[in-house]
Amino acid sequence: MNAVNSNKDEHKAGHVLIVGSLNMDLVGRAPRLPKPGETLSGTSFATIAGGKGGNQAVAAARLGAHVAMIGATGADSYGAALRAGLADEGINCSGITTRANTPTGVAMIIVDDASQNAILIVPGANGEVTPAAIKQHEALVATADVVVCQLEVPHDTVLAALQTARRLGKVTILNPAPVSEPLLASWLPEVDYLIPNEIEAATLSGIAVDSPQDACIAAQRLRALGARNVLITLGARGLVALTGEDMAHYPGTPVKAIDTTAAGDTFTGGFAAALARGASVHDAILLGQRAAAISVTRAGAQPSIPYLHEVEQTA
Ligand code: AMP
Repeated sequence: MNAVNSNKDEHKAGHVLIVGSLNMDLVGRAPRLPKPGETLSGTSFATIAGGKGGNQAVAAARLGAHVAMIGATGADSYGAALRAGLADEGINCSGITTRANTPTGVAMIIVDDASQNAILIVPGANGEVTPAAIKQHEALVATADVVVCQLEVPHDTVLAALQTARRLGKVTILNPAPVSEPLLASWLPEVDYLIPNEIEAATLSGIAVDSPQDACIAAQRLRALGARNVLITLGARGLVALTGEDMAHYPGTPVKAIDTTAAGDTFTGGFAAALARGASVHDAILLGQRAAAISVTRAGAQPSIPYLHEVEQTA
C-alpha cells in the first residue's frame, strides 16, 4: 500500500476524495407499477439525496474522514439542495461545478407494494464532469490519501482521476458501478482496490457469482486480469476479499434488513475513510461492513448511513 500512512500524524482523520455522481432521487410509492400509457395514483413521494458519488462522500465523512468531492450539478434547486446537504456533512464542495444549461442528475424511482421498482436515471450534469475538472482540481487529489471513483460520470474522467491519483502516490479505489464490461482490463493497473458487487464481479470476470466460493474464483480471475486487490460484496453474505496473497470471506453482520439501498456505498465510503486514517485493510473491511449492516436497517440512501460513533457502539 502506498501513501496512506506517510502523513498520518499530519492528517489524523485522513483525507478522502470522491470523484462521482450527484443525483436527486424522486421516490414515489404506488400499489403497483404503471403500465405504458397509464396514469396511476401514488401513495407517497419524497426527494432524497443520492447518486453513488454523493452517497460515498457522505459515508466517508460520517465515518470519520475529511472529504472533498469532484462532480457537477445544474444551476437548479436540486443542485443547491445536494450541495447544502454535503456542506452540512462538512464535505469540501469546491470541486463541484455548477452547469448553467444542464439539469442536476435525477433518478425517478417508483416502488410498488411488493417492493419491486422501476427506475429512470437522467444523468444531466453528471455527464459533464470532464477530465479537465480533474486537472483543474488537482490540488484536491494532491491533498487526498485515498481517491474513490465509480462509473456514473464519464469514463474518460474516471480514468483521468485514477491516473492522476496514482501519479501522485495516492491509494485508488474503483467501485465499478454501473458495470461496463469492456473498459476495465486496461484500467486495472490504476486501481489499488476494486470493489464490485456480485453482479459486477460476474460481468467483469465472466464467472457467475452465486456463493462466496464463486466469489473467490471470480476474485482470482480478476487478479489474473490485472487487479491488485479485489473486494467482492455479497449482500447479506458479506464479502470476499483477495488482498495480497490472502483470500478471506467476511460473513455479513446478522441484522434485520429493511432497505439495502446504499449498503454498497456505505461499505465503500467506510472502507475508504478507515484506510485514509491508516487502519489495516482488515480493520477497514470490518468498519465498512459494520456501517453497511446498520444502513440496511434504515430506509433511504443517504439518510440510512450511520456515523462513526454509532458503528463504534456495535463493535
Ligand atoms: P451489497 O452492495 O448489497 O453487496 O452490500 C455491501 C455490503 O453491505 C455487504 O458486503 C455487507 O457487508 C453489507 N450488507 C448488505 N446487505 C446486508 C444485509 N442484508 N445484512 C447485513 N449486511 C449487509
